[in-house]
Amino acid sequence: MTPTPSGATTIQMVALREQYEQLKPRIDAAIAAVIDRSAFIAGPAVAEFERWFADYCGVAHAIGVSSGTTAIELALRALGIGAGDEVVIPANTFVAAAAAVAATGATPVFVDVAECTGNLDPARLHDAITPRTKAIMPVHLYGRPAAMSEILDAASSVPVIEDAAQAHGARYGSRRVGSLSAAGCFSFYPTKNLGAFGDAGLITTNDDAVAKTTRLVRDHGRTSRYEHAVIGQTARLDTLQAAVLRVQADCLDEWNARRRQVAAWYREMLPAAITCPDDDRGNESVYHQFVVRLRRRDAFRAHLESRGIATAVHYPLPLHLQPALRALGYRAGDFPVTERLTSEVVSLPMHPFLERPQIQYIADAATEFVRP
Ligand SMILES: *Cc1c(COP(=O)(O)O)cnc(C)c1O
Repeated sequence: MTPTPSGATTIQMVALREQYEQLKPRIDAAIAAVIDRSAFIAGPAVAEFERWFADYCGVAHAIGVSSGTTAIELALRALGIGAGDEVVIPANTFVAAAAAVAATGATPVFVDVAECTGNLDPARLHDAITPRTKAIMPVHLYGRPAAMSEILDAASSVPVIEDAAQAHGARYGSRRVGSLSAAGCFSFYPTKNLGAFGDAGLITTNDDAVAKTTRLVRDHGRTSRYEHAVIGQTARLDTLQAAVLRVQADCLDEWNARRRQVAAWYREMLPAAITCPDDDRGNESVYHQFVVRLRRRDAFRAHLESRGIATAVHYPLPLHLQPALRALGYRAGDFPVTERLTSEVVSLPMHPFLERPQIQYIADAATEFVRP
């Protein structure tokens, strides 16, 4: 545990420095090689990382892009989604999903989540699907696979895409997320389970047409140097980021396994008054966050903070109540499960470098708080 100058323990939410230290010589060499070649756009580093990620997920194509939000936007565009269309997404997630839908010109339509998982509730999907629904996008929130078979059944012929920004390597049955739908959208924001040293994202797909369109759109719609088949964007995966990601990718399974161990320690040690996420039978969460629930959430956070333990809330304001999305016309009360979770969830420290004594320390602080 890291002592602060005052001698108090501090346990942080993430450990980016430790991740870098584990791989420093290889990462430094990979960055130096790109600079040495001075080919800063596309090049072998991007192709190699894309090949690695496609094989890892068990899909035909991986298309590197500039961020997770861009991955969602480009995947939706490749499916032909635009103005006048509706895309169904859970109300309980990060704002990027709604922003990416809006960027295509389509309208985000929210659906409530299941109380026990926080993920899109397939039983509610029929409330949200209309004749204009052109895609459904479950989120594998906190690294936990959404209920894909039920969602695919309820979607019937409407295409499904996955927001897998928090779930690199998670398994639904024997398959990796990102391989379960028309397209998987990943973010490599630095704090994700696989993180770059800046912004980066990627689309996985088995659909040749989706791959072809997203490759075009990410690079100015270019079919040759100065010939442009469609209106595109500057949305490529940065070459330096691809080089860093290819090295860090070798640790992804090890880091995810350590996160799962940390989750198991929390489950073993936290007092019963704190509701832990259960480990789905047959699926494998990669615990991007370890999110527990309790009534006096804010007082609990203050107590942990006084013991030098960082916490966070994912997410304090649901999408349907975001000021930026007010024009959609939703109101408080529209998605009761999401709203309840919003007031009760708290994310505890979760990263691959936490040790058992630190989890014991957090659990002891939690026990102190809940003891009558
Ligand atoms: C991080 C994240 C995104 C967006 O990724 P960026 O790379 O930051 O654009 C989208 N959805 C979810 C669920 C995320 O956690």
